Amino acid sequence: MSRFSDTNFKGKKVLIRVDFNVPLNDKFEITDDTRMRAAVPTIKKIIDDGGCPILMSHLGRPKEGPTEKYSLKHLIPHLSELLGGTTVLFANDCVGEQAFLTASMMRPGEVLLLENLRFHKEEEKGDEGFAKKLSGLGDIWVNDAFGTAHRAHASTAVIAKFFTKENRMFGLLMEGEVSSAEKVLHSAEKPFTAIIGGAKVSDKILIIENLLEKATDIIIGGGMAYTFMKAQGGNIGKSLCEEDRLETASEILKKADEKKVCIHLPADSTIADKFDAGAETSTAPSNNIPADWMGLDIGPNACEQFCNVIRNSKTILWNGPMGVFEMKKFQHGTKAIAEAVAAATQNGSFSLVGGGDSVAAVNQFGFADKVSYVSTGGGAMLEYFEGKQLPGIAAVKS
Ligand code: AMP
Repeated sequence: MSRFSDTNFKGKKVLIRVDFNVPLNDKFEITDDTRMRAAVPTIKKIIDDGGCPILMSHLGRPKEGPTEKYSLKHLIPHLSELLGGTTVLFANDCVGEQAFLTASMMRPGEVLLLENLRFHKEEEKGDEGFAKKLSGLGDIWVNDAFGTAHRAHASTAVIAKFFTKENRMFGLLMEGEVSSAEKVLHSAEKPFTAIIGGAKVSDKILIIENLLEKATDIIIGGGMAYTFMKAQGGNIGKSLCEEDRLETASEILKKADEKKVCIHLPADSTIADKFDAGAETSTAPSNNIPADWMGLDIGPNACEQFCNVIRNSKTILWNGPMGVFEMKKFQHGTKAIAEAVAAATQNGSFSLVGGGDSVAAVNQFGFADKVSYVSTGGGAMLEYFEGKQLPGIAAVKS
């Protein structure tokens, strides 16, 4: 594979797989353009070099073929604006004569946006014939869609075989994602602390197991901590608990012990009498929560305990909130962790925040630019840290 930054795209038709799967309201207005903005540097570099970017993406989950609601045409005005007024051409179908003719006649300085890839069921099936048709639109294929890198779809992986090694590469976003993730997983400076939170143990078992081979410390917070507490014989009241994972939690603790990985569970919790923003609250040891109460955030002692570990870490990976941060009364723990990660970063540690809710939390609390890297790909990042090979990465590299 070639390096994007070292390539000159002058005179080239560059087919870029972007992730423009942005939320739209019922007036088809974009309510969060983060994913579009993330692709701008890649698109701009190609335009500046004198090349022609051809953008392909999916939007939503259309089941019935072409549907107004899922048309990428709604993105044209905002895309043009993000690119400083660049002309955005549009092809009503991502394959076929119109797409082919528009692609071949476009001029440097213009951008072509193709209609939703998922209007063709062949996209998600990874159909080779469909991938081949798409590949005919460009001289070079750039994968810049980290959010879909864990899918072996036609445009994200299968298409790679129709481009030579020199003519396929990651875009700038993907390059950043892959190098940050590789740094953490393969060359982390120690102490390396993984902070894992969120609701369910079942969603995070694989990532914890893989991190047991890599990290020196694993902090477990959020709802999932209570399954671990109960597995150790604690009283957790009405806190979240996955009864069918108690044994798994015990096994994880045992394995960590064998591998000399230090697992940190919250010493205390902010507890509530109901799952409600207006609930009555108190604090209690996380292993001694009164029967009718539930732990909805880590407590003040746990904050101090976790922040101490973070402060002494050289590499930090954070996935999942420490409590129900959507409610003001239960966001203190997540905020404290965000602050500690930002402070450690300022002191020279490398920090990577990945996974939907922790990303939402660092954005909400204003720490996104104070950590080393915020990943754009929730599911993809999780699978990467579970130790899986992501088809969208493998296809470019192999
Ligand atoms: P996940 O998608 O598994 O990362 O979980 C994120 C969700 O976990 C967020 O919506 C949080 O509100 C929720 N959460 C975090 N801590 C708790 C808790 N102690 N009890 C219930 N839900 C929680």
